[in-house]
Amino acid sequence: MTVIDILTKLVSFPVLGGESNISIAKWIEAYLTEHGVAYKNVPNEDGTKRSIHCRIGPAVDGGVILSGHMDVVPVKGQTWVTDPFVLTDGGDGKLYGRGSCDMKGFIACCLAALPDMVRAQLSKPIYFAFSYDEEIGCLAAPDLAADINDYYDEKPAYAIIGEPSMMQPVVGQKGMVIYKTTVNGSAGHSSRIRQEVSAIFESARLILWLENKMNQLIEAGHIDDRFTPPHTTIHSGIFERSGIAPNVISDRATFYWDVRVIPKDKSTEIRSEFEAYCRELELENRKRFPAFTIVTVEDHSDVPALDTPEHYAIVSLIKKLSGEDKLDAVSYAAEAGQFAEAGFQAVICGPGDIAQAHRANEFVAKEQLVKGTEFMNTLIKELSV
Ligand SMILES: [Zn+2]
Repeated sequence: MTVIDILTKLVSFPVLGGESNISIAKWIEAYLTEHGVAYKNVPNEDGTKRSIHCRIGPAVDGGVILSGHMDVVPVKGQTWVTDPFVLTDGGDGKLYGRGSCDMKGFIACCLAALPDMVRAQLSKPIYFAFSYDEEIGCLAAPDLAADINDYYDEKPAYAIIGEPSMMQPVVGQKGMVIYKTTVNGSAGHSSRIRQEVSAIFESARLILWLENKMNQLIEAGHIDDRFTPPHTTIHSGIFERSGIAPNVISDRATFYWDVRVIPKDKSTEIRSEFEAYCRELELENRKRFPAFTIVTVEDHSDVPALDTPEHYAIVSLIKKLSGEDKLDAVSYAAEAGQFAEAGFQAVICGPGDIAQAHRANEFVAKEQLVKGTEFMNTLIKELSV
């Protein structure tokens, strides 16, 4: 099967983040089996989803993991010209379909190269690592990476995460986390605002604290020019409808906030400073309303940043494989930081442009798939005897 045949098949599985991915996993597993490659599954708790990993080549240290996610984002509310789950050649050098770019294009390049990988006399192994639920918070990669560490006696050295980067090597990625904060105040007539505790007023204080925290970090020189914008961002995107009437003090308010950190900042530190401020507000407000609480939970798991130093061997390898010398950094969350935390030197490099991801009429340029295929060929040569 050609890379386009495989991509056509992969796009036809409308597996969204959060949904069961058994259909697409089964197809990939059958393909691996057909080529004589044994695989290992890493299922979720109830068995409705599973990651896949496998090794091609000898069981020796120093191999390369090629990693991609099998899920895609929804198409609901988007205006598509073609059926999003039918890969369509636009006749303009582009192949349209949900996931064509993010990131089934990369998985198709991996699978299309499999017969050559199997035939090659590899001296170092290549591993595939395909995850689920990436699009709802990179949920599966930590277990997948841990299972690779457990399952194989040998130790893979490198992980290449094929997120769309126009086949440019990416060595930096912001970390991200989303929190949900709920404030429980006391209800009452609006004239009693000095006696009751308004959940809206207290939420407003907290949200302003968050904005100030971001500004303080910038002013303190926490800048990393590789990223756009070059600093940690903190933002509240949802303030849930709160209150029942203009003249009734609101006793409950909920807001969501996301933190996207440059590698030198830690979201956990921002969170604990925020919590300290919450405790202060609680002490203060309990004088008026003893049951006053502020509760914050993670709404999107903490995805670590990636910051691969230039002297790492993966950096010279990825330059060779991609034919590109320039190193990039990206502001989107990906699984690369999680693979790095699991002990693999990690980079991002994959076909397609992130600007096309998650949109209506997502596409991958055929030229990008050609580059992805050349990348796989170079990798095979590089790892062959
Ligand atoms: Zn992706």
